[in-house]
Amino acid sequence: MARILDGKAIQQQILEELKPRIARLAAARRPPGLAAVLVGENPASQIYVASKVKTCRELGMHSEELRLPEATTTEELLERIEQYNEREDIDGILVQMPLPKQIDSRRVLLAIRPEKDVDGFHPFNVGQLVANAPAPRACTPAGVMELLRRSGIEVAGAEAVVVGRSDIVGKPMALLLMHAHATVTICHSRTRDLPAVCRRADILIAAMGRPAFLTAEFIRPGAVVIDVGINRITDRAEAERIARGAPAKLAAFEKNGSVLVGDVHPGDVAELASAYTPVPGGVGPLTIAMLMANTVECAEKRLG
Ligand code: NDP
Repeated sequence: MARILDGKAIQQQILEELKPRIARLAAARRPPGLAAVLVGENPASQIYVASKVKTCRELGMHSEELRLPEATTTEELLERIEQYNEREDIDGILVQMPLPKQIDSRRVLLAIRPEKDVDGFHPFNVGQLVANAPAPRACTPAGVMELLRRSGIEVAGAEAVVVGRSDIVGKPMALLLMHAHATVTICHSRTRDLPAVCRRADILIAAMGRPAFLTAEFIRPGAVVIDVGINRITDRAEAERIARGAPAKLAAFEKNGSVLVGDVHPGDVAELASAYTPVPGGVGPLTIAMLMANTVECAEKRLG
Protein backbone atom coordinates (compact mmCIF):
# COMPACT_ATOMS: atom_id res chain seq x y z
CA MET A 1 0.00 0.00 0.00
CA ALA A 2 1.37 3.37 -0.97
CA ARG A 3 1.76 5.90 1.81
CA ILE A 4 -0.30 9.05 1.38
CA LEU A 5 1.68 12.18 2.22
CA ASP A 6 -0.83 14.28 4.11
CA GLY A 7 -0.19 17.92 3.25
CA LYS A 8 -2.86 19.21 5.61
CA ALA A 9 -1.29 17.49 8.63
CA ILE A 10 2.16 18.87 7.74
CA GLN A 11 0.65 22.30 7.17
CA GLN A 12 -0.77 22.17 10.71
CA GLN A 13 2.66 21.23 12.15
CA ILE A 14 4.30 24.18 10.37
CA LEU A 15 1.59 26.64 11.45
CA GLU A 16 1.80 25.43 15.08
CA GLU A 17 5.54 26.06 15.04
CA LEU A 18 4.98 29.59 13.71
CA LYS A 19 2.55 30.57 16.48
CA PRO A 20 5.13 31.19 19.26
CA ARG A 21 7.30 33.18 16.84
CA ILE A 22 4.30 35.35 15.90
CA ALA A 23 3.40 35.79 19.58
CA ARG A 24 6.99 36.87 20.38
CA LEU A 25 6.93 39.49 17.62
CA ALA A 26 3.50 40.71 18.70
CA ALA A 27 4.64 41.04 22.33
CA ALA A 28 7.92 42.76 21.47
CA ARG A 29 6.77 45.08 18.69
CA ARG A 30 3.77 44.16 16.56
CA PRO A 31 2.42 41.10 14.71
CA PRO A 32 3.81 40.31 11.24
CA GLY A 33 1.80 41.97 8.44
CA LEU A 34 0.93 40.67 4.98
CA ALA A 35 -0.65 42.65 2.14
CA ALA A 36 -2.33 40.56 -0.55
CA VAL A 37 -3.16 42.30 -3.80
CA LEU A 38 -5.72 40.85 -6.16
CA VAL A 39 -6.41 42.45 -9.55
CA GLY A 40 -9.55 41.43 -11.43
CA GLU A 41 -12.19 38.79 -10.93
CA ASN A 42 -10.42 35.44 -11.52
CA PRO A 43 -12.46 33.07 -9.30
CA ALA A 44 -9.53 30.72 -8.53
CA SER A 45 -7.37 33.70 -7.53
CA GLN A 46 -10.14 35.01 -5.29
CA ILE A 47 -10.26 31.68 -3.45
CA TYR A 48 -6.46 31.51 -3.09
CA VAL A 49 -6.20 35.05 -1.73
CA ALA A 50 -9.13 34.59 0.65
CA SER A 51 -7.57 31.45 2.06
CA LYS A 52 -4.18 33.13 2.52
CA VAL A 53 -5.74 36.11 4.32
CA LYS A 54 -7.84 33.80 6.50
CA THR A 55 -4.83 31.72 7.53
CA CYS A 56 -2.94 34.90 8.45
CA ARG A 57 -5.77 36.03 10.68
CA GLU A 58 -6.12 32.63 12.35
CA LEU A 59 -2.45 32.83 13.25
CA GLY A 60 -2.83 36.30 14.79
CA MET A 61 -0.98 38.09 12.02
CA HIS A 62 -2.09 41.34 10.47
CA SER A 63 -3.32 40.95 6.91
CA GLU A 64 -5.03 43.13 4.39
CA GLU A 65 -6.51 42.35 1.06
CA LEU A 66 -6.48 44.96 -1.68
CA ARG A 67 -8.87 44.29 -4.55
CA LEU A 68 -8.34 46.29 -7.70
CA PRO A 69 -10.53 46.33 -10.82
CA GLU A 70 -9.73 44.25 -13.92
CA ALA A 71 -8.86 47.45 -15.87
CA THR A 72 -6.11 48.55 -13.44
CA THR A 73 -2.99 49.83 -15.21
CA THR A 74 0.60 48.88 -14.47
CA GLU A 75 1.26 52.39 -13.14
CA GLU A 76 -1.70 52.25 -10.77
CA LEU A 77 -0.60 48.88 -9.40
CA LEU A 78 3.01 50.05 -9.03
CA GLU A 79 1.79 53.02 -7.00
CA ARG A 80 -0.08 50.74 -4.57
CA ILE A 81 2.95 48.46 -4.25
CA GLU A 82 5.14 51.45 -3.45
CA GLN A 83 2.76 52.38 -0.63
CA TYR A 84 3.13 48.90 0.84
CA ASN A 85 6.90 49.05 0.36
CA GLU A 86 6.94 52.19 2.51
CA ARG A 87 4.59 50.94 5.23
CA GLU A 88 6.32 49.98 8.44
CA ASP A 89 3.59 47.54 9.52
CA ILE A 90 3.68 45.47 6.30
CA ASP A 91 6.40 42.80 6.13
CA GLY A 92 5.20 40.86 3.11
CA ILE A 93 3.60 41.88 -0.19
CA LEU A 94 1.91 39.31 -2.35
CA VAL A 95 0.53 40.08 -5.78
CA GLN A 96 -1.67 37.20 -6.88
CA MET A 97 -0.79 35.89 -10.33
CA PRO A 98 -1.86 35.78 -13.11
CA LEU A 99 -2.38 39.51 -13.64
CA PRO A 100 -4.67 40.91 -16.37
CA LYS A 101 -2.99 41.09 -19.79
CA GLN A 102 -2.47 44.86 -19.85
CA ILE A 103 -0.30 44.74 -16.72
CA ASP A 104 3.46 44.29 -17.07
CA SER A 105 4.00 41.46 -14.57
CA ARG A 106 7.76 41.72 -14.66
CA ARG A 107 7.74 45.38 -13.66
CA VAL A 108 5.35 44.49 -10.86
CA LEU A 109 7.61 41.72 -9.53
CA LEU A 110 10.61 44.06 -9.73
CA ALA A 111 8.75 46.77 -7.80
CA ILE A 112 8.24 44.69 -4.65
CA ARG A 113 11.14 45.24 -2.28
CA PRO A 114 13.13 41.98 -2.11
CA GLU A 115 12.93 41.98 1.70
CA LYS A 116 9.11 42.04 1.47
CA ASP A 117 8.89 39.58 -1.43
CA VAL A 118 7.20 36.70 0.40
CA ASP A 119 6.55 34.83 -2.86
CA GLY A 120 10.27 34.74 -3.66
CA PHE A 121 9.72 35.85 -7.27
CA HIS A 122 11.86 39.02 -7.30
CA PRO A 123 14.93 38.56 -9.53
CA PHE A 124 17.20 39.34 -6.56
CA ASN A 125 15.66 36.52 -4.54
CA VAL A 126 15.77 34.18 -7.55
CA GLY A 127 19.50 34.97 -7.75
CA GLN A 128 19.86 34.15 -4.05
CA LEU A 129 18.13 30.83 -4.70
CA VAL A 130 20.53 30.01 -7.54
CA ALA A 131 23.44 30.83 -5.20
CA ASN A 132 21.85 28.84 -2.35
CA ALA A 133 21.99 32.00 -0.20
CA PRO A 134 19.27 32.92 2.33
CA ALA A 135 16.19 34.72 0.96
CA PRO A 136 12.45 34.05 0.74
CA ARG A 137 11.94 30.99 -1.45
CA ALA A 138 9.02 30.40 -3.85
CA CYS A 139 6.31 28.94 -1.61
CA THR A 140 5.20 25.87 -3.59
CA PRO A 141 8.66 24.35 -4.19
CA ALA A 142 9.71 25.28 -0.64
CA GLY A 143 6.56 23.51 0.58
CA VAL A 144 7.48 20.39 -1.38
CA MET A 145 10.92 20.36 0.27
CA GLU A 146 9.33 20.68 3.73
CA LEU A 147 6.94 17.87 2.91
CA LEU A 148 9.81 15.59 1.82
CA ARG A 149 11.89 16.48 4.87
CA ARG A 150 9.10 16.05 7.38
CA SER A 151 8.02 12.78 5.77
CA GLY A 152 11.54 11.37 6.19
CA ILE A 153 12.13 10.99 2.45
CA GLU A 154 15.84 10.94 1.61
CA VAL A 155 16.65 13.49 -1.07
CA ALA A 156 20.46 13.41 -1.05
CA GLY A 157 21.66 11.10 -3.78
CA ALA A 158 18.16 10.46 -5.13
CA GLU A 159 17.30 10.67 -8.83
CA ALA A 160 14.73 13.47 -8.96
CA VAL A 161 12.75 14.27 -12.10
CA VAL A 162 10.78 17.53 -12.28
CA VAL A 163 8.19 17.75 -15.05
CA GLY A 164 7.63 21.46 -15.75
CA ARG A 165 10.06 24.39 -15.98
CA SER A 166 7.98 27.41 -14.99
CA ASP A 167 9.52 30.26 -13.02
CA ILE A 168 7.14 29.73 -10.12
CA VAL A 169 7.30 25.93 -9.70
CA GLY A 170 9.50 23.81 -11.99
CA LYS A 171 12.70 25.88 -12.03
CA PRO A 172 12.88 26.75 -8.33
CA MET A 173 11.85 23.16 -7.50
CA ALA A 174 14.77 21.78 -9.49
CA LEU A 175 17.22 24.19 -7.84
CA LEU A 176 16.03 23.33 -4.31
CA LEU A 177 16.34 19.60 -5.03
CA MET A 178 19.81 20.14 -6.45
CA HIS A 179 20.86 22.12 -3.36
CA ALA A 180 19.57 19.20 -1.28
CA HIS A 181 21.98 16.96 -3.27
CA ALA A 182 19.52 15.16 -5.53
CA THR A 183 20.54 14.37 -9.10
CA VAL A 184 17.98 16.45 -10.96
CA THR A 185 16.47 16.17 -14.43
CA ILE A 186 14.09 18.87 -15.65
CA CYS A 187 11.49 17.92 -18.28
CA HIS A 188 9.20 20.05 -20.44
CA SER A 189 7.06 19.85 -23.54
CA ARG A 190 10.06 19.18 -25.80
CA THR A 191 11.48 16.33 -23.73
CA ARG A 192 12.01 13.20 -25.84
CA ASP A 193 10.52 10.00 -24.40
CA LEU A 194 9.06 11.58 -21.27
CA PRO A 195 7.84 8.22 -19.86
CA ALA A 196 11.37 6.76 -19.93
CA VAL A 197 12.86 9.84 -18.24
CA CYS A 198 10.14 9.85 -15.57
CA ARG A 199 10.66 6.15 -14.87
CA ARG A 200 14.23 6.93 -13.79
CA ALA A 201 12.90 8.95 -10.86
CA ASP A 202 13.16 7.97 -7.22
CA ILE A 203 11.34 11.25 -6.64
CA LEU A 204 8.98 12.38 -9.40
CA ILE A 205 7.58 15.91 -9.23
CA ALA A 206 4.70 16.77 -11.55
CA ALA A 207 4.12 20.48 -12.23
CA MET A 208 2.61 20.59 -15.70
CA GLY A 209 -1.01 21.66 -15.44
CA ARG A 210 -2.18 18.59 -17.45
CA PRO A 211 -4.90 16.57 -15.69
CA ALA A 212 -3.85 13.02 -14.76
CA PHE A 213 -1.23 13.09 -17.53
CA LEU A 214 1.36 10.98 -15.73
CA THR A 215 -0.07 7.46 -15.86
CA ALA A 216 1.43 4.06 -14.97
CA GLU A 217 4.04 4.10 -17.75
CA PHE A 218 5.64 7.23 -16.20
CA ILE A 219 5.97 5.90 -12.66
CA ARG A 220 8.76 3.62 -11.46
CA PRO A 221 7.33 1.12 -8.96
CA GLY A 222 8.30 2.31 -5.48
CA ALA A 223 8.90 5.95 -6.49
CA VAL A 224 7.87 8.90 -4.34
CA VAL A 225 5.46 11.00 -6.42
CA ILE A 226 4.72 14.65 -5.64
CA ASP A 227 1.82 16.11 -7.57
CA VAL A 228 1.83 19.91 -7.73
CA GLY A 229 -0.86 20.11 -10.41
CA ILE A 230 -4.32 21.46 -9.66
CA ASN A 231 -6.83 20.99 -12.50
CA ARG A 232 -10.60 21.27 -12.35
CA ILE A 233 -12.35 18.68 -14.53
CA THR A 234 -15.85 19.45 -15.78
CA ASP A 235 -16.04 16.89 -18.61
CA ARG A 236 -17.64 13.54 -17.78
CA ALA A 237 -15.56 11.40 -20.17
CA GLU A 238 -12.38 12.91 -18.73
CA ALA A 239 -13.66 12.30 -15.19
CA GLU A 240 -14.32 8.65 -16.06
CA ARG A 241 -10.80 8.17 -17.45
CA ILE A 242 -9.35 9.66 -14.32
CA ALA A 243 -11.61 7.66 -12.03
CA ARG A 244 -10.13 4.34 -13.21
CA GLY A 245 -8.81 2.85 -9.94
CA ALA A 246 -9.89 5.98 -8.05
CA PRO A 247 -13.71 5.76 -7.76
CA ALA A 248 -13.84 8.59 -5.22
CA LYS A 249 -12.99 11.01 -8.04
CA LEU A 250 -16.06 9.98 -10.02
CA ALA A 251 -18.23 10.18 -6.91
CA ALA A 252 -16.99 13.74 -6.32
CA PHE A 253 -17.73 14.57 -9.96
CA GLU A 254 -21.27 13.16 -9.69
CA LYS A 255 -21.88 15.20 -6.57
CA ASN A 256 -20.46 18.56 -7.66
CA GLY A 257 -20.43 18.47 -11.46
CA SER A 258 -16.65 18.96 -11.35
CA VAL A 259 -13.65 17.46 -9.59
CA LEU A 260 -10.10 18.55 -8.76
CA VAL A 261 -7.29 16.38 -10.04
CA GLY A 262 -3.54 16.66 -10.18
CA ASP A 263 -1.12 16.01 -13.03
CA VAL A 264 -0.68 12.39 -11.94
CA HIS A 265 -3.27 9.67 -12.50
CA PRO A 266 -4.70 9.04 -9.01
CA GLY A 267 -5.43 5.32 -9.50
CA ASP A 268 -2.06 4.52 -11.08
CA VAL A 269 -0.02 6.42 -8.50
CA ALA A 270 -1.81 4.70 -5.62
CA GLU A 271 -0.95 1.35 -7.15
CA LEU A 272 2.70 1.99 -8.05
CA ALA A 273 4.25 4.63 -5.79
CA SER A 274 5.74 3.99 -2.35
CA ALA A 275 4.42 7.40 -1.25
CA TYR A 276 2.49 10.18 -2.96
CA THR A 277 0.66 13.45 -2.39
CA PRO A 278 -3.10 13.50 -3.01
CA VAL A 279 -4.91 16.30 -4.87
CA PRO A 280 -6.44 18.14 -3.11
CA GLY A 281 -4.77 17.97 0.31
CA GLY A 282 -1.17 17.41 -0.78
CA VAL A 283 1.05 20.25 -1.95
CA GLY A 284 -1.61 23.01 -1.88
CA PRO A 285 -1.74 23.37 1.94
CA LEU A 286 2.06 23.51 2.05
CA THR A 287 2.11 26.50 -0.31
CA ILE A 288 0.04 28.49 2.18
CA ALA A 289 2.13 27.27 5.12
CA MET A 290 5.33 28.45 3.44
CA LEU A 291 3.80 31.83 2.63
CA MET A 292 3.07 32.23 6.35
CA ALA A 293 6.60 31.07 7.21
CA ASN A 294 8.13 33.53 4.72
CA THR A 295 6.05 36.39 6.16
CA VAL A 296 7.11 35.57 9.73
CA GLU A 297 10.74 35.34 8.65
CA CYS A 298 10.59 38.68 6.79
CA ALA A 299 9.04 40.25 9.90
CA GLU A 300 11.74 38.80 12.17
CA LYS A 301 14.46 40.18 9.88
CA ARG A 302 12.87 43.61 9.62
CA LEU A 303 12.12 43.91 13.32
CA GLY A 304 15.51 42.55 14.32
P1 NDP B 1 2.94 26.50 -16.40
O1 NDP B 1 1.86 26.34 -17.39
O2 NDP B 1 3.60 27.82 -16.22
O3 NDP B 1 4.11 25.45 -16.76
C1 NDP B 1 3.82 24.14 -17.12
C2 NDP B 1 5.11 23.43 -17.47
O4 NDP B 1 4.76 22.07 -17.81
C3 NDP B 1 5.85 24.01 -18.66
O5 NDP B 1 7.21 24.05 -18.40
C4 NDP B 1 5.52 23.05 -19.79
O6 NDP B 1 6.57 22.88 -20.73
C5 NDP B 1 5.36 21.74 -19.05
N1 NDP B 1 4.45 20.86 -19.79
C6 NDP B 1 3.18 21.11 -20.19
N2 NDP B 1 2.70 20.07 -20.90
C7 NDP B 1 3.69 19.17 -20.96
C8 NDP B 1 3.82 17.90 -21.58
N3 NDP B 1 2.81 17.35 -22.27
N4 NDP B 1 4.98 17.22 -21.43
C9 NDP B 1 6.00 17.75 -20.74
N5 NDP B 1 5.94 18.97 -20.13
C10 NDP B 1 4.81 19.66 -20.26
O7 NDP B 1 2.37 25.96 -15.04
P2 NDP B 1 2.81 26.25 -13.50
O8 NDP B 1 4.20 25.80 -13.28
O9 NDP B 1 2.40 27.61 -13.12
O10 NDP B 1 1.81 25.24 -12.75
C11 NDP B 1 1.85 23.85 -12.95
C12 NDP B 1 0.69 23.20 -12.22
O11 NDP B 1 0.84 23.41 -10.83
C13 NDP B 1 -0.68 23.78 -12.57
O12 NDP B 1 -1.63 22.73 -12.53
C14 NDP B 1 -0.95 24.75 -11.44
O13 NDP B 1 -2.35 24.93 -11.22
C15 NDP B 1 -0.32 24.04 -10.29
N6 NDP B 1 0.10 24.90 -9.18
C16 NDP B 1 -0.18 24.45 -7.93
C17 NDP B 1 0.21 25.15 -6.83
C18 NDP B 1 -0.08 24.60 -5.49
O14 NDP B 1 -0.09 25.33 -4.54
N7 NDP B 1 -0.28 23.29 -5.37
C19 NDP B 1 0.89 26.46 -6.96
C20 NDP B 1 1.23 26.80 -8.32
C21 NDP B 1 0.82 26.04 -9.38
P3 NDP B 1 7.09 24.10 -21.71
O15 NDP B 1 7.92 24.97 -20.82
O16 NDP B 1 7.90 23.39 -22.74
O17 NDP B 1 5.86 24.76 -22.23
